[in-house]
Amino acid sequence: MGRSSKDKRDVYYRLAKEEGWRARSAFKLLQIDQEFRLLDGVTRAVDLCAAPGSWSQVLSKRMIKDNPNKTGEEKIVAVDLQAMAPVPGVIQIQGDITKMTTVEQIFSHFQGLKADLVVCDGAPDVTGLHDIDEYIQSQLLLAALNITTQILAPEGKFVAKIFRGKDISFLYSQLQSVFFHVAVAKPRSSRVSSIEAFVVCEKMRPIKLEPAEGGQMMQLPRFVACGDLEGFDSDTCYPLELDGREYKYHQPIQTPIKPPYEQFLEKHKKQAKETEAGQQNTANCVNRLNSQ
Ligand code: SAM
Repeated sequence: MGRSSKDKRDVYYRLAKEEGWRARSAFKLLQIDQEFRLLDGVTRAVDLCAAPGSWSQVLSKRMIKDNPNKTGEEKIVAVDLQAMAPVPGVIQIQGDITKMTTVEQIFSHFQGLKADLVVCDGAPDVTGLHDIDEYIQSQLLLAALNITTQILAPEGKFVAKIFRGKDISFLYSQLQSVFFHVAVAKPRSSRVSSIEAFVVCEKMRPIKLEPAEGGQMMQLPRFVACGDLEGFDSDTCYPLELDGREYKYHQPIQTPIKPPYEQFLEKHKKQAKETEAGQQNTANCVNRLNSQ
């Protein structure tokens, strides 16, 4: 089959094939690495949302094949919803990164050791509805961040795809609360017309983690019970007459201005009127027939 003219025009698509990368995305990671030296000295890495596997190929080449200092201890774990053809030296997990079972599988391969690098090129199937696409993307990023905070070494790096939508500054602030250094990278191979970019996060801020159910380490918020513990319990039904006081009904202090059930009541009233009119008509007919 011949190449489409779009394929021929996309130089990164052509180069990927020439150089043996499974996807043109390989150049994005390579170009981010040129700027941020992500892959220098990395022994353990996690590739989230990895299929078809070009980022895993980059990791495998740099950490194992072309690494003169390799020790044989190198570990690369790649995860994707989709099945992926094998990549030398890469352990594959087929699963959803938002699911706890997948997270546990990832951890099991590290046996308590920390990773030097976590990358996530996750992208949902684009619906074309920007708000929804951005929301799903942010959920993927959140899942990736949840994994990262538990598995990344304090000096490790985290790289993830983002969509620079209207609420992006909020995301930057959130990432800055987890990492000391957050930068946004736009590789040459990422189309200018696309709102895609990559956050490069370095040096995790220390977070106090507590062991939770299943041995996972989690940051637990303080749980504080408020109000008089001897006071009324909101799950208990009490008799109307309380402490010998007679029950008296009080009008609501402020009735709803436009309650959502108003529309339903209107419709119900209209239907009742129509039914009444219909019944009256039937009764009239019956009367007329009886009198004939
Ligand atoms: N970095 C990859 C490469 O270089 O070949 C390309 C990744 S592709 C742009 C995005 C991937 O995200 C898809 O393969 C998709 O299956 C995966 N993905 C989307 N949602 C996911 C999820 N919840 N869990 C795991 N993978 C997911």
